[in-house]
Amino acid sequence: IVILAIESSCDETSAAIIANGKVLNNYIATQSVHEIYGGVVPELASRAHQQNIVPVVDLAMKNAGIKKEDLSAIAFTRGPGLLGALLVGASFAKSMALALGIPLIEVNHMEAHIMAHFIEDPKPSFPFLCLTVSGGHTQIVLVEDHLKMQVIGETRDDAVGEAFDKSAKILGLGYPGGPKIDKLAKDGNPTRFNFPETEMPGFDYSFSGIKTAILYFLRDEVKKDPDFVEKNLNDITASIQHALINMLLQKFRKAARKHKVKEVALAGGVSANSGLRNALTEMAAKEGWQTFIPAFEYCTDNAGMIAMAAHYKFLANEFVGQEVSALPRMKIGIK
Ligand code: ATP
Ligand code: MG
Ligand code: FE
Repeated sequence: IVILAIESSCDETSAAIIANGKVLNNYIATQSVHEIYGGVVPELASRAHQQNIVPVVDLAMKNAGIKKEDLSAIAFTRGPGLLGALLVGASFAKSMALALGIPLIEVNHMEAHIMAHFIEDPKPSFPFLCLTVSGGHTQIVLVEDHLKMQVIGETRDDAVGEAFDKSAKILGLGYPGGPKIDKLAKDGNPTRFNFPETEMPGFDYSFSGIKTAILYFLRDEVKKDPDFVEKNLNDITASIQHALINMLLQKFRKAARKHKVKEVALAGGVSANSGLRNALTEMAAKEGWQTFIPAFEYCTDNAGMIAMAAHYKFLANEFVGQEVSALPRMKIGIK
């Protein structure tokens, strides 16, 4: 089974080749046009996908040593994501599958972030609880099988990645700000400043309140001392990161205890955060959980994870017809 997978949900144009469950190449082109705007501009994202998609697919195939005739199926991200961006990948995949006369596989981007755990060893065993933290989502997902997962809690407003990025923007650190906060926080005091953490019912999250609290706090401090941010950047970033991680993990621990899981996992771009990795690993040691975190390449948007999800869908004969179209608000577990 050889599958070409395409990811185009946001600002990464990516193509991967998977052969019998092994990812041979995962080519990722990150769009740089958005940097000067401090966030992803949807219209520019779809245009860049249009320019990138043919060379990206070519490179993935060439690097993997795979020809069109070798392909068994084409997979693509159906959603969730930006409509215009998704349409580029979906249209390309549909045309190529039609031209080659091979089946088409739709993949849910959020399920794929979790499937990234099956690309390399060590792999988690079922059931496990996954904390998916990315630029657009924050979810606690109970993973019962490669194709069976349910969201047991999620954010009611902003994603935690958004909270990182917006905080970074307020601090003038540029986009995407998550990695920059992570770096600066390493040399800061995480308990120097306190931000009010919003408590939500069940296993849900809310990150819009803390974002506003950070904004007002900085505005007030800068009024008193214009150099406040420059002087305290390490402590500020460390304190913001600490508050966000604390919110994430308190709720996650509650969910893991309730569902009595022994294995826990991180997925999505924010799982690259070193503070979060360390804090989860520490918590897991106390709780007796085994922790799984994918390699960085497979944490942020990439087609390798789409390919991995597609492999299991191929085995289960889950194909779609040419009538399929992009689904910007696609949910986990709902077909
Ligand atoms: P979604 O998957 O929900 O559609 P997305 O594709 O934009 O959203 P990802 O590519 O998975 O999300 O992750 C991007 C996010 O990860 C950004 O918000 C970025 O700031 C954040 N991020 C990346 N590295 C780090 C880090 N070291 N610390 C904190 N955040 C990080
Ligand atoms: Mg991205
Ligand atoms: Fe993503």
